[in-house]
Amino acid sequence: MQVENIKYKLLKMALYTIVLPLVLGWLLRFVFPTIYINIPLHTVLESVGATIAFIITIVFYIKYARYGLLSRFNIAAFGLLSMGVLDIFHAVVLPGELFVFLHSSAVFFGGLFLGAVWIKEFQISQINYRFFPLSIFFFSFLFALFFIAFREYVPRIFDADNSFSINADLLNIIGGLGFIAASFSFAQEYLKTRELQELVFVGFTMLCATAAVLFVFSDLWSLEWWLWHILRLLAYVIALYFLYAQYKKEILQIEDTNEKLAMANKTIGKYLDIVDEHVITSTTDLRGIITQVSKAFCQISGYSKEELIGQAHNIVRDPDMSSEFYAEIWRTLKSAKPWDGEIKNRKKDGSVYWVKTAITPLFDEIGNVFGYASVRQDITDKKCLERLSITDALTELYNRRYFNEVIEEEIMRAKRDDKYFSFLMIDIDHFKQYNDTYGHQSGDMVLKKTAEVFKNYSKRTSDFVFRLGGEEFAILFSGLDEVKSFTYVHELLQKIEDLHIAHRENSASPYVTVSMGLLVQKGESIDMYGELYSKADALLYKAKQNGRNRVVSGA
Ligand code: GH3
Ligand code: MG
Ligand code: MG
Repeated sequence: MQVENIKYKLLKMALYTIVLPLVLGWLLRFVFPTIYINIPLHTVLESVGATIAFIITIVFYIKYARYGLLSRFNIAAFGLLSMGVLDIFHAVVLPGELFVFLHSSAVFFGGLFLGAVWIKEFQISQINYRFFPLSIFFFSFLFALFFIAFREYVPRIFDADNSFSINADLLNIIGGLGFIAASFSFAQEYLKTRELQELVFVGFTMLCATAAVLFVFSDLWSLEWWLWHILRLLAYVIALYFLYAQYKKEILQIEDTNEKLAMANKTIGKYLDIVDEHVITSTTDLRGIITQVSKAFCQISGYSKEELIGQAHNIVRDPDMSSEFYAEIWRTLKSAKPWDGEIKNRKKDGSVYWVKTAITPLFDEIGNVFGYASVRQDITDKKCLERLSITDALTELYNRRYFNEVIEEEIMRAKRDDKYFSFLMIDIDHFKQYNDTYGHQSGDMVLKKTAEVFKNYSKRTSDFVFRLGGEEFAILFSGLDEVKSFTYVHELLQKIEDLHIAHRENSASPYVTVSMGLLVQKGESIDMYGELYSKADALLYKAKQNGRNRVVSGA
């Protein structure tokens, strides 16, 4: 809407509510100076007006209650309320001084309170929100009662010539000025917000102001006097109709919004179904007891929803994952931080699956963690490939590639933790001859059996067993000093001979044996990889030189 158009609307409103009524009043005064006394009709007009004023007040109070704000319309409602109460009393007392005084007071207080819409809206508690209208109601009520009980206090209302006194005129003029002030405030707000509600109240307050002015010039029961009564009632009816229309519009809007929400819900529901089916998610409480799982979680773990909910999350824990690993996860989560990483889990049927997991703490409204949510991705295939790429196909030990990856890390870790670090190099004795004597396939069997022994006797978490190539192996372990390392390694050496695999070309024994070079170093003084390797290699060479089937150790 154009600004011009809006200003035009305001002008039109002023024409209908000020100019026309004033002209009409003037015409009636001079052209039809008739007196028409009808007390019941007057009572009806005033009562209907007052009732509408109450309804509008209540509507505004309900409408703005949820904002915790005393809105401009709440303040305007003070005026309506006060006017309503005083006009009801005015309608029920018999015509006379009190009758006119009560009406003039209605205009006076109505104008004053409505003029207060210039006050800024302010935040208010629920109790005060109700306190304000109640106190206005009781104030107006007691005000009227007081003058009904003590008529002698009612100021002089009629002059000797039976026209309204200066007292009556002043009450109406001051009230009228209040209405004019209110009308300007609503007009200003209308220009800003362009809300119809503001325009309706521009008209309403202008009409009230005009009625107050007409009062000053009118005589009791004259047609002009009736005119402003009717004008005021008309203003009330229009305001009420407007509220009704507004209410209807809002209801329609709510219905429309509800419909859209329902549609959106449906769409979200569909997405959630897809997520439920394809994304492995779970939530737990603070103790790790499962509270929710997705279908995808059930599918990968092999458990049903019923079997999972209420169980501790470690129902899918694989024993290969160490307690320290889980302790670390809990440490992170307990400090309200998210954790992510790769976890090996165990299905109901005992088989294994790997998941890339992200766990996040769940916070309530006041920022306390009340549980955890996790999203997982099945990475079993990736893990299989990864395992294949670091595993030697024949012996299923780690291969050379993995050795290259791990060795430097392990050296650094031992240095950092100031631990003993042992590097063992192993080579099967006279293996070429073994192949030549028993055949290549038997050679493979020897490699397998030897590897198995190494694997079975190196099961600590820090143990790594590699096939470096051919018939050469390496074992990394940490935490054992020279003596303990030597003892352990020597046992290993013995275990190979104890396999009693016949090898008649072996100069060291009638069975297959190995030679070992053992290097044990500690913390800071651990060599870098290159040096470490050649030292161990030299020790192994020495073991071969010294007659094979033995360990030669060094530092
Ligand atoms: P030494 O006691 O000095 O270690 O003598 P050796 O014969 O064991 O050493 P050499 O390095 O001369 O020979 C290693 C042999 O290992 C040569 C090769 O035929 C054999 N070999 C390497 N890889 C495999 C394999 O995968 N399978 C089998 N059966 N033999 C292999
Ligand atoms: Mg060799
Ligand atoms: Mg050899």
